[in-house]
Amino acid sequence: MITKTVQIDENKIDESLIKEAGEIIKQGGLVAFPTETVYGLGGDALNPESSKKIYAAKGRPSDNPLIVHIYRLEDLDRIVKNVSEDAKKVMDAFWPGPLTLIFEKTDVVPKETTGGLDTVAVRFPIHPTAMAFIEAAGGFVAAPSANLSGRPSPTLAKYVCEDLNGRVDMIIDGGNIPIGLESTIVDMTSEVPMILRPGFVSKEMLEEVLGEVKVDPTILDANSTERPKAPGMRYRHYAPKADMAIVRGEDEKVSARINEMAKEHKECTVICVDEHVKDYPGLNIKNVGSAKDSNEIASNLYKILRECDDEGVEFILSESFSDKGIGAAVMNRLIKAAGHKIIDV
Ligand code: AMP
Ligand code: MG
Repeated sequence: MITKTVQIDENKIDESLIKEAGEIIKQGGLVAFPTETVYGLGGDALNPESSKKIYAAKGRPSDNPLIVHIYRLEDLDRIVKNVSEDAKKVMDAFWPGPLTLIFEKTDVVPKETTGGLDTVAVRFPIHPTAMAFIEAAGGFVAAPSANLSGRPSPTLAKYVCEDLNGRVDMIIDGGNIPIGLESTIVDMTSEVPMILRPGFVSKEMLEEVLGEVKVDPTILDANSTERPKAPGMRYRHYAPKADMAIVRGEDEKVSARINEMAKEHKECTVICVDEHVKDYPGLNIKNVGSAKDSNEIASNLYKILRECDDEGVEFILSESFSDKGIGAAVMNRLIKAAGHKIIDV
């Protein structure tokens, strides 16, 4: 398959290119497109054959459900049942935006799209190119992140190309992605809404609107033997090719341990905050951004993990970062990338 790559400026959307992209989806093809979280790999959510193609293109296990993207609220009732008052409140507060909600599905949504489940994950993104594309595609686009299964989610079109060139019909290059981590997922089918995956919309933000919010215990406890409620969370996601460990503790102890460990590994790269670059003289450094700015760290993390792959890094030592607000999502992805290897000092 030849993959066509096009550039679309979100501030000046090329209608004919968007129409072409939408037509590909309607014909059962695949298009990668930018959203505010990461690049998505889109297919027609209501066409089981399209969903099968998405799984094949990513090499994704078919029991790992896809998120259905809509571009306007009026379409929600076609694909979901039993929208609670709580759900209406969060939709009102955070849609369109980087929040995915789980509902009971209607018969219109094929089980191929939901990985066999009777529930469906729905997202209403705010990225102008994503919205225009979903509309042109007929209104319901199933889209997981546009990476090969197990690789970090792409935050630049060149990473989508690296993973999916020859596997999709079109890639829409929308430049840099503002958030850089996948959406928050909240299950609205349980009595008390439950966070299944942390993201930009934090627990604190959800609590302000909903009062009580639970967190899937498997997210908080690395050694939990329970099954995560979001099927995707059980796979080793977000992984760089290098061996990776996180060093956690007081600043001085962390830098001392990292400097010591780095001596033992020839091809070692250190991921640290801007404020600590000076603490690692002579080492290969990836500056993830200021310790005070979790948004900056979120937007740089996947890029840095991919750069480490490109440079053939064999060992990564990362500092631990704030887990407040979106920091909870940063640490969730970092710990998964490290395969839960944390060294406390
Ligand atoms: P991705 O789009 O690649 O970030 O993956 C979407 C993730 O959403 C999947 O890995 C699942 O963990 C989660 N998800 C999608 N649909 C459901 C659902 N019906 N119930 C629970 N989790 C879901
Ligand atoms: Mg993904």
